[in-house]
Amino acid sequence: MSTIFKKIIDKEIPANIVYEDEEFLAFHDINPAAKVHVLVIPKKEIKNLDAATEEDALLLGKLQLTVAKVARILELDKDGYRVITNIGDNGGQEVYHIHYHILGGEKLPVKLK
Ligand code: C5P
Repeated sequence: MSTIFKKIIDKEIPANIVYEDEEFLAFHDINPAAKVHVLVIPKKEIKNLDAATEEDALLLGKLQLTVAKVARILELDKDGYRVITNIGDNGGQEVYHIHYHILGGEKLPVKLK
């Protein structure tokens, strides 16, 4: 089932887009949890990392490289940043379209490990 991110991909609802290519989209989170908070998503609808299959291996690799590329566009690479993907209820996933959170622009609090 499609999510609100599909509407962002299809430009049916607006988003503050940082980067876009044929396969991926990155946009500022509407409810930022850090000074810089950007989401990177594939245009292919995959629920989360747990729902990804062997068939998605190349896409997932490219997704991670796109995360690093977007972080460089945002000039976060020099001082560092954090990447998070939430999976399911306990993971706090709200939107069931796989996405990586890029958090940075400041010293981030509390490492979980
Ligand atoms: O990982 P999780 O599913 O909890 O994160 C979803 C994220 O998508 C939230 O941080 C929320 O603020 C963001 N969001 C957004 N634009 C929307 C809907 C949700 O940036 N239109």
